[in-house]
Amino acid sequence: MTRTQHELLQAATPSARALPESGIVEVFNYGRTREGLIPLWAGEGDTPTPALICDAAAAALKDGATFYTYQRGMPPIRQALADYFAGLYQRAFTPDEFFLTCGGMQAIQMAVQLIVGDGDEVVVPSPAWPNFHGAILSRGGRIREVDMRFGNDGWTLDLDELFAAVTPKTRALFINTPSNPTGWTASQDDLRAILAFARERGLWIIADEIYGRFYWKGELAPSLQTLREPDDRIVFVQTFSKNWAMTGWRMGWLQAPAELGQTIENMIQYNTSGVPTFHQPAGVVALSEGQSIAREQIDRAARGRDIVCSALDGREGVSFAWPDGAFYLLFKIDGVTDSLKMALQLVDEANLGLAPGAAFGQAGEGAFRLCYLRSPDQLETAMARLTGWLDKR
Ligand code: PMP
Repeated sequence: MTRTQHELLQAATPSARALPESGIVEVFNYGRTREGLIPLWAGEGDTPTPALICDAAAAALKDGATFYTYQRGMPPIRQALADYFAGLYQRAFTPDEFFLTCGGMQAIQMAVQLIVGDGDEVVVPSPAWPNFHGAILSRGGRIREVDMRFGNDGWTLDLDELFAAVTPKTRALFINTPSNPTGWTASQDDLRAILAFARERGLWIIADEIYGRFYWKGELAPSLQTLREPDDRIVFVQTFSKNWAMTGWRMGWLQAPAELGQTIENMIQYNTSGVPTFHQPAGVVALSEGQSIAREQIDRAARGRDIVCSALDGREGVSFAWPDGAFYLLFKIDGVTDSLKMALQLVDEANLGLAPGAAFGQAGEGAFRLCYLRSPDQLETAMARLTGWLDKR
């Protein structure tokens, strides 16, 4: 580090300096320019956003949708969100619960900003997507990780351990179901117990159910949406990214009690001042006309799950269980103690990009996450590379 760099860093806030580098991005940066590499490290598919959605944005742009917008999102998209959820969960939703954000990531930031102050704790089951931690740390909050167990039935969460991690400083439970990276999916009974506990203790639940439709034991994963009452302290973070292949649009939403509307509007005002105006009509199209697009993504992931899990099933030295939801497989390779090092090695020796389990917390060490929302051909090739590489180990 040069002296100037050191001095500039010292001039940044301690909380900014303390933010960890994402272990996923580290491998990504190492291998991103490799010719022919199959990238299964990131949480996205390989299909561009379909024309139906892109055309709506292009038309809006052409029509002059280039001015400042509503902080919470324009009325049509908030109405479309209420209608979409009413269709999905068969109960009433109102537009005033929905707040458009720049991706699910910003919805997480908003949720944390709303709930977590300096020194407050959030309980997070681990392994977890590292950005939950980043968001909490960036607000001066503390994370209490609850390690999930890994065994023959895959990743499991002991609810007693989850509840035991709560202290007087705890403000929220972060529940990501179906989970990135484990695929663990809370049962209806789990959610009922978690909600009862949160009610009793006055805790918030930050519910990340963005993979709710990527569920492999039924149509829709069990959800807090069907259990909640109006006065429950639940905020949902959500995104257009996954269902409609829109990761690059940076468009998502926060769903929160309408009573907090003005407060959330103020937060959005001072963070981003809203989502790009011409993106919003495209979001309406995704929600109201994009059923077949979402179906294709879900079917593609289901096929991908079959391919990657079948390729590893019964293989000596590799352990996993078929994940219940989301589009990741987090599998362990026996004897691995440094998954980051091995992920870099896989880039060099197998031309394959996997995310190191350690990036998702200590409980993920020894494991690797792969994203299976990709073309069947690419996944077949990827698995041939992986198993060939494992054969030579
Ligand atoms: N939550 C989870 C569990 C995720 O995996 C992701 C994306 N990988 C997000 C939120 C954020 O999604 P977005 O791309 O919309 O920021």
